[in-house]
Amino acid sequence: MKYKELYDEDFLDKFGEHKDTVSNLELGNNQQINVQSIAEACGITVKFDTVEHSGWSINSDEDENTKEIIINELEPEYRQRFTIGHEIGHIVLGHKGKSYRTSDMTKYIDTLARMHEVEANNFSAELIMPKRLVWNVLLETVDELEYSRTQNFDDQDIQKLIKYSAEKMKVSEQALGYRVKNLKVFIDE
Ligand SMILES: [Zn+2]
Repeated sequence: MKYKELYDEDFLDKFGEHKDTVSNLELGNNQQINVQSIAEACGITVKFDTVEHSGWSINSDEDENTKEIIINELEPEYRQRFTIGHEIGHIVLGHKGKSYRTSDMTKYIDTLARMHEVEANNFSAELIMPKRLVWNVLLETVDELEYSRTQNFDDQDIQKLIKYSAEKMKVSEQALGYRVKNLKVFIDE
């Protein structure tokens, strides 16, 4: 399956001149979005190092070729993947300068910086957990755990489905939990 089948057109438009390259990437035989291939498709270099925060990126105005993401090599892989998505977001959304990711929002001194943080987080969530992929993986997991696709799920069932699905997608349970809520996958009201 190609990435263009997973993302909406308006999300792919955010990649600008790199849209076609990203659209034609292949999902391969797992359910994990390859964030490093996406970075590569956008001409961004990803490096791993011992750094402060989760990672940061440089998007230079003077030198168009300087597009670099540095990721904290000590953090778990699912978090590194989200951070890569977050930093790709800063770059393709045109946030200039040096951007970093930390869970401490008080570190962002001004409103614009905080707004950019929220935008980069939303971008990353959509990038590594596209709606169609989330649905596919959840349905597959429903079958594997021998639930019925037409039954009602209680909180415990949902938690279990999210845990298994998050592993398959190599994202954190927490991130997938938020995403599933936002996508209104399980509506029982
Ligand atoms: Zn950031």
